[in-house]
Amino acid sequence: MATTLAKSNHEMTDEEWQARQQLAATYRIFAMMGWDEAIFNHITVKVPGEDGAFLINPFGLHFSEVKASNLIKIDIDGNKLSESDYGVNKAGFVQHSLFHRHLHDAHCIIHTHTTATAAVCSMEGGLQPVNFYACNFAGKLSYHDFEGVTVREEEGERLLENLGSNRILMLKNHGPVVIAPTLPIAVIQYWALQRACEIQLETMRAGDPIVVSQDVIDVHQRDLFMAQASAEPGKAEFDAWVRQVDKIDTSWRE
Ligand SMILES: [Zn+2]
Repeated sequence: MATTLAKSNHEMTDEEWQARQQLAATYRIFAMMGWDEAIFNHITVKVPGEDGAFLINPFGLHFSEVKASNLIKIDIDGNKLSESDYGVNKAGFVQHSLFHRHLHDAHCIIHTHTTATAAVCSMEGGLQPVNFYACNFAGKLSYHDFEGVTVREEEGERLLENLGSNRILMLKNHGPVVIAPTLPIAVIQYWALQRACEIQLETMRAGDPIVVSQDVIDVHQRDLFMAQASAEPGKAEFDAWVRQVDKIDTSWRE
């Protein structure tokens, strides 16, 4: 396997370096969007071609400070596999590790507490089919009752059971977990969910939302799926956001 010597002097494959750059870009997109949460919350990705290795943000840094080289490689239990001056928020990785461990398609996981998504997670009925983006998700979201901060392993069984075959789990009174096979798909899904929640909240503030019928939701989801069928879903949007990030700061590439 080809190797690249990164600035951290940590020897790695080209695939790992590419995954590091894409994940660092994702953190910067989230920072640019205002979807950061002090030094908390996590976006994780599996290291390609390496079983049981994941990349996570260094604990203590803001999303806008994440670079390809300062991401930390960890095992499924959150133990460091690469040298770093920073620690890992092991508690924050508990639910990520659960999904990475048990779902073969969980290559990327995003969990954040944006105001709009956390607000809808905290609302009776959760996301309602009352706007364009929300109709994307009708029937595709799972919900999990709040049990306090998600650091106890024994909650894992219920998290998996409640997720079922969906790949977005709305943690009630908390925030969403978005699970996807690639980072661009995870980001575009998170973006659409964020927009659905923002618009639902704004609509509820303004008046009575119009509920879309199941027949129309079915047509919407069928046609949307066909329109979005591309070789690399989410890539065009991801690349456009990366160009915006680069206008602010290109250091994520280092
Ligand atoms: Zn959380």
